[in-house]
Amino acid sequence: MKTTIPERGMTRGAILAALTDLRRQDLPSDGHAFAFVYDPGEEAQSIAREAFAACMGINGLDPTVYPSARGIENAIVQACLELVRAPAGAAGTATAGGTESVMLAVKAARDNARRSRPEIKHPRMLVPETAHACFHKAAAYLGVELVRVDVDDTFRASVEDARRKMTRDVILVVGSAPSYAHGVVDPIPELAALAREHGAFMHVDACVGGWVLPFLRESGVPVPAFDFDVPGVTSLSLDLHKYGFAPKGVSALLMRDRSLRDAHYFACARWSGYSIVNSTTLGSKSVAAMGAALAVMQHLGREGYTRHAQQMWEATLLLCDAVEQTPGLRLLARPDMNLFAFTTSAAGKQRAGDLFELSDRLLARGWHVQPTYSFGRSPAHIHLTLDPGNAAHAAAFAADLRNAARDLPPQTPPPAPLLAALESLVSGNATGSKMNTHMLMGALGIKDGQMPARAAGIHRLLDAASPDVREALLVSFVGELFTQPEETPHGSP
Ligand SMILES: *Cc1c(COP(=O)(O)O)cnc(C)c1O
Repeated sequence: MKTTIPERGMTRGAILAALTDLRRQDLPSDGHAFAFVYDPGEEAQSIAREAFAACMGINGLDPTVYPSARGIENAIVQACLELVRAPAGAAGTATAGGTESVMLAVKAARDNARRSRPEIKHPRMLVPETAHACFHKAAAYLGVELVRVDVDDTFRASVEDARRKMTRDVILVVGSAPSYAHGVVDPIPELAALAREHGAFMHVDACVGGWVLPFLRESGVPVPAFDFDVPGVTSLSLDLHKYGFAPKGVSALLMRDRSLRDAHYFACARWSGYSIVNSTTLGSKSVAAMGAALAVMQHLGREGYTRHAQQMWEATLLLCDAVEQTPGLRLLARPDMNLFAFTTSAAGKQRAGDLFELSDRLLARGWHVQPTYSFGRSPAHIHLTLDPGNAAHAAAFAADLRNAARDLPPQTPPPAPLLAALESLVSGNATGSKMNTHMLMGALGIKDGQMPARAAGIHRLLDAASPDVREALLVSFVGELFTQPEETPHGSP
């Protein structure tokens, strides 16, 4: 009988070969992906690997037992505070990622407001529709109602709309620096002034921008005000595992004043085991990614980050120009940083070409881009995130993009019956829809959790579907990915 746990231990060679085999189909880190990958180069990667391994055994659960955990975290947080010009008295926490930073920022705002504004029974937060999905997750987990704020035609939050929606129970206003999809910075000074006027906290989500914008500004690129220099900004998040070039698992949440931070700590002395105090959601936690973040920071230095920021910005300008000069393509907005969105558009007598066909064609030429569905003011688009790896290939990508955009078939809506079937599938009960989803995946060509090489049909369908349908399908799709085979060996001889 074959079991997952081998009867006798395997050799080091066989184990590592098996891991390599498992990784065969992963997104390669070779400069051909325009999402997911933040690659500072082989030397930095290898230093990160060694630091990660060196820190593997440090348990961040108790910094008195592991003083290194405290030293590493304090160094990271201090670096982040310097980058975003935090005032004396500011403080921060290293977290496991942008989502956790944001969730703790919302928790801190909620719990601080409970104390300072106890009359508020149903706290609300103003969140631009372009803000990251993790604010919706925070709302769902923490019981803070999310009030969606409109954006203008450059996809920046509308201050007028925020003002209209400001009520006495708003505890938090959110702005992005920049937004992930369009790469534009919200009007942070205006939003922060509005928050301050109404006694609310203001969180700046600089998860993706925090480790780039300061270096662009120093290089003379005009960068909108977004950091603690702006009065009224009370907290700010920035990810080390994006443009800090650390391995996944590390971000930072910063507070203007240390007294605000206690509200996201959690202490418990009412059980029969050891008393706890956790600064983040995890208990026992690895400090490995933090250690690697510190190592990469020391390796690159300000000079290295500046060089990468400049290269990525030059590549961004090149690609934005390429999009604008290609008939049938248009930028959604000129970005403030090295990530942006573009879509297809009518050119002359030609109707807008099929965007998802374009992303299939790019994939066939070896480029991984991020097809993104329409929501609110934002039409379906292709998103590109530039990193030092793909920035080096920007000219080649631009040439392929121009060719791929030629003679696109016009955009067509998905078959109405299929869409209707999808909607009814999702509104059915969970058990009934489980098998149907399985069949649907098969019918769409999704095998073994892998999207087919030609995914345009799937994307067209999902783009036309409602957010409810998209969400339900995603849940059952990922559920399929993590379902164990029917025949488990439990107990069988
Ligand atoms: C990536 C990102 C997040 C969430 O970060 P994770 O590290 O994926 O949890 C939040 N906000 C913005 C703007 C981001 O780009």
